Amino acid sequence: MSDEKEAKGFELKGHKLVCPICGSTQFWTRRTLLNTKGLTFMDLDWLNKEADNYICNTCGYIMWFLPKEG
Ligand SMILES: [Zn+2]
Repeated sequence: MSDEKEAKGFELKGHKLVCPICGSTQFWTRRTLLNTKGLTFMDLDWLNKEADNYICNTCGYIMWFLPKEG
């Protein structure tokens, strides 16, 4: 498989993804495990899942999206 760090445009639910900082529409993605040791006691263990990160190719701003249940 090839390296997936190639920036490109994305759409989420019909909305074009635009960086709120610099206005760029070019992002690369990665998945990050939200490892929340210490949060379970606060009833936040729903955070123990993977989030989609969209990282602006211009300024490096990272947007986080939690996958929805169901
Ligand atoms: Zn940006």
